[in-house]
Amino acid sequence: MVNYEIYKNLGISSEVLSYSEEILASLEKRFKKIDEVAEYNQAKVLKAMQDNRVNAACFAGTTGYGHDDIGRDTLEKVYADVFHTEAALVRPHITCGTHALAVALSANLLPGDELLSPVGKPYDTLEEVIGIRESACSLKEYGVSYRQVDLLEAGSFDYKNIEKAINEKTKLITIQRSKGYQMRPSFSVKQIGELIAFCKKVKPGVTVMVDNCYGEFVEEIEPSDVGADMIVGSLIKNPGGGLAPIGGYIAGTKKCIDRCHYRLSAPGIGQDVGASLSLLTNFYQGFFLSPTVVAGALKGAIFAANIYEKLGFKCVPNSTESRHDIIQSVLLGSRERMLAFAEGIQKAAPVDSYVTPIPYPIPGYNCDVVMAAGAFVQGSSIELSADGPVNEPYAIYFQGGLTWYHAKFGIMMSLQRMFEQGLINLN
Ligand SMILES: *Cc1c(COP(=O)(O)O)cnc(C)c1O
Repeated sequence: MVNYEIYKNLGISSEVLSYSEEILASLEKRFKKIDEVAEYNQAKVLKAMQDNRVNAACFAGTTGYGHDDIGRDTLEKVYADVFHTEAALVRPHITCGTHALAVALSANLLPGDELLSPVGKPYDTLEEVIGIRESACSLKEYGVSYRQVDLLEAGSFDYKNIEKAINEKTKLITIQRSKGYQMRPSFSVKQIGELIAFCKKVKPGVTVMVDNCYGEFVEEIEPSDVGADMIVGSLIKNPGGGLAPIGGYIAGTKKCIDRCHYRLSAPGIGQDVGASLSLLTNFYQGFFLSPTVVAGALKGAIFAANIYEKLGFKCVPNSTESRHDIIQSVLLGSRERMLAFAEGIQKAAPVDSYVTPIPYPIPGYNCDVVMAAGAFVQGSSIELSADGPVNEPYAIYFQGGLTWYHAKFGIMMSLQRMFEQGLINLN
């Protein structure tokens, strides 16, 4: 039995604690399933590290040009083995997820080619990469056209119109696994596999890229196991395990990844340059921890959905649905509740717990955005964090938690803030 006195010291009232513990008691079976996936993925990562003979020399790092960086090259092989791809690009020089996606796209699309998103609007920051919103150096500026097929009402694929949209110019198809800041469902790897198979039947040889952000290690298989030519993600999300301080990855066919190397560094030079400095230990260790970190974040998301759904708020995914990423959105329905939720998350942080999140304008949004995070790595969203545009329907997006206990505490703290302000009724 846990000694709950410690939660009292941290500001949790007995009402909030007992409400939370009661919900938690009903989640045992689901948590066990999550642990099983984590166990499988832990073994998968371990096997790849052993097969590639990871050793102390791999952590040394290089400077300058970074020629013959054994650690960097081995890490890329480890990623490729875990994701069952021919090759991978895993570098600190990839500044964020958007950058990784931009590299993958621009490396594999040429003037006259067309890019297709068969799953509706892509993540906000990709709008400028693609040129949906005008931007210097967008794909559009380089003569790459873009087409989009929206999802059907229920969030399913509009196969009829996807087939129509694929034409002789269609070169690359981009599929976003996670919902991002939308209310649509995130896709399971199986669903993604069905969509890929359909697209490749309509146009054999078309390249398929999956934006895998927030999805890594949530399931036992990844989109690269079901036909994706490239999967792309950020190291300050799932695969960095909270330890990578920067970076992104692209894993896929050798043909695609070689081009990504050339695009990231320079044509002709490719993967041979790129010093890893002193970051490799964090990259390896973070990847090693990632399956269990993701499991903790998933438990937190499920805990949150069960708490808030019982209080009458719509949750996406809902309290019982299966999970395909670590994001939980809760429709709180009012500005006050959104801010209280964010305050609770901030108060639960190991870093900057004493500050109050205030909504502010961010480029690309037509309203203020509130963000709560007290992270060791700035902006890291595998760490406990919550954010959302402060606007109808007042949905907060919650994710992360380096440990399940921290995610749990964050949710309890969000509940506490609302309880104190009379914004919810716990009876
Ligand atoms: C986070 C995210 C991105 C972009 O990553 P940044 O690191 O914020 O640039 C792209 N797509 C999805 C689905 C994401 O969740």
